[in-house]
Amino acid sequence: TIEFVRATQLQGDEEPAAPAASAQAQQKECIQAVRRSLPVFPFREELLAAVAQHQVLIIEGETGSGKTTQIPQYLFEEGYTKKGMKIACTQPRRVAAMSVAARVAREMGVKLGNEVGYSIRFEDCTSERTVLRYMTDGMLLREFLSEPDLASYSVVMVDEAHERTLHTDVLFGLIKDVARFRPELKVLVASATLDTARFSTFFDDAPVFRIPGRRFPVDIFYTKAPEADYLEACVVSVLQIHVTQPPGDILVFLTGQEEIEAACEMLQDRCRRLGSKIRELLVLPIYANLPSDMQARIFQPTPPGARKVVVATNIAETSLTIEGIIYVLDPGFCKQKSYNPRTGMESLTVTPCSKASANQRAGRAGRVAAGKCFRLYTAWAYQHELEETTVPEIQRTSLGNVVLLLKSLGIHDLMHFDFLDPPPYETLLLALEQLYALGALNHLGELTTSGRKMAELPVDPMLSKMILASEKYSCSEEILTVAAMLSVNNSIFYRPKDKVVHADNARVNFFLPGGDHLVLLNVYTQAITAGYFYHTARLTRSGYRTVKQQQTVFIHPNSSLFEQQPRWLLYHELVLTTKEFMRQVLEIESSWLLEVAPHYYKAKELEDSHAKKMPKKLGKTREELG
Ligand code: ADP
Ligand code: MG
Repeated sequence: TIEFVRATQLQGDEEPAAPAASAQAQQKECIQAVRRSLPVFPFREELLAAVAQHQVLIIEGETGSGKTTQIPQYLFEEGYTKKGMKIACTQPRRVAAMSVAARVAREMGVKLGNEVGYSIRFEDCTSERTVLRYMTDGMLLREFLSEPDLASYSVVMVDEAHERTLHTDVLFGLIKDVARFRPELKVLVASATLDTARFSTFFDDAPVFRIPGRRFPVDIFYTKAPEADYLEACVVSVLQIHVTQPPGDILVFLTGQEEIEAACEMLQDRCRRLGSKIRELLVLPIYANLPSDMQARIFQPTPPGARKVVVATNIAETSLTIEGIIYVLDPGFCKQKSYNPRTGMESLTVTPCSKASANQRAGRAGRVAAGKCFRLYTAWAYQHELEETTVPEIQRTSLGNVVLLLKSLGIHDLMHFDFLDPPPYETLLLALEQLYALGALNHLGELTTSGRKMAELPVDPMLSKMILASEKYSCSEEILTVAAMLSVNNSIFYRPKDKVVHADNARVNFFLPGGDHLVLLNVYTQAITAGYFYHTARLTRSGYRTVKQQQTVFIHPNSSLFEQQPRWLLYHELVLTTKEFMRQVLEIESSWLLEVAPHYYKAKELEDSHAKKMPKKLGKTREELG
């Protein structure tokens, strides 16, 4: 067992008269009653009046108060979509855009994709009839390319503004500008946290509309001592809650798909072994790549007598609200991107979450009744080890994509772009340098014809360069296949925990001499190099080094080239896990680099000084790496 100590309490608001009303209504699927029971409903008229009166309105409201699902509907009912105008509502996460659009379509009694739709990268579920458009922030950003003044929109709602994703931050600057010369455009900035003053200041002191929350107190518990293995601690704690605590569902926050799958498996396994000794425990995962029918399951009411445990990523922090949660289990971690502009290395690492995040998570336990939040770290760690808030993404990511987009929109002076928080100077500089090397910008920093074409493709600049260059080498079809496969998050090779050996064998069967990109495709062409010449590494006496930065890197042990160690390599991405690994690598010849990027490489850099003496194998084997 894990010992928790009760420390603090998250204050609730005054208790509403009929606390169970919304849960009951939900169960009867009485959708209009649920709509009327939401905290935003009593403020409908007031809110519409404020929107009519002000061009920009900041909306602050507790998660689950109805901002995302209700406000666009109110505006629709009020006639903001007359004359063929549309309402956009942006979400930082694809899952949220899809799930919320589906919910709203159901509330309005229309088919998803008709009046209500969603659009996320590589998937557009909208039509001519769509007037309520839920979309990722990245998609709205791309809308600026075809419609710089967003002329077909009457309202733009930037939702989940507190998340401060890169795309949301860039949207702020662009929308502020559009609003100046389109006085009839309404801009709503919706946020879950109290930090709305910054948004208000940024939008020339726009008024803040507060939707009072309906929140019950949440008792916060900490562990007595730090837990070494938080996954195991999670599983034990869930079972402990299940066995000792009164009814109510559990929400667990983990950092990603792999962890979530592992935790769910461990939970199911232990429940099976305990059999009828415990009551039924429904174990439900939720993460971005989960098929949508599986996602929908988390919203279904828990059968009487059973308990539900939802194991989620950050998505459940503010984007999605699951009814019936009374217990929150928070290990205190999240996956975060970070970027080193000196080396150009982007990494995704599991890091402690911020205090703001931890408190949002705890708040999820107080939606329907007084709740409890169990933190798998000590009160001391909370006080001393967690940052106050999360650093905005714009300050910890590469900017190639965004810089190319802004350049295409005619914004040349990026140093003076109206950022809520500006990105680091070196990151901007590196992005400009990279775009110049790819031929997207000329030496004056102006967009080239090829840069314009690259911006049209919703992928990383190197990938778009590769696709465009494939035309010259007559291999567009093959390259598009590779590009599509590289764009799938993680890997196309599914590796379920209980079938690791089978999955690895299956993958090895696809291996081809030459490298991973060819494995993805089973064909061989030269053009990939045209886009990725920036990402190259050479085998030296002391292992692989990147050609330009001279940084030590390693082939990922999953790679088909892991054992072969070719002299010249090109890689798709560098990831920092236990080491700096190159993922998706391809064998190349150094002469190709001179051919595709004579402006970037000097012949001298590409000389093979010790070609013959090269030992066959330098790296450790898969087994040695463990
Ligand atoms: P906010 O944006 O203020 O966090 P939402 O508009 O997302 O609030 O949610 C309002 C209510 O709608 C919540 O009580 C939530 O439970 C419910 N809801 C949202 N999506 C779904 C869904 N897919 N299925 C069932 N209920 C949902
Ligand atoms: Mg919302």
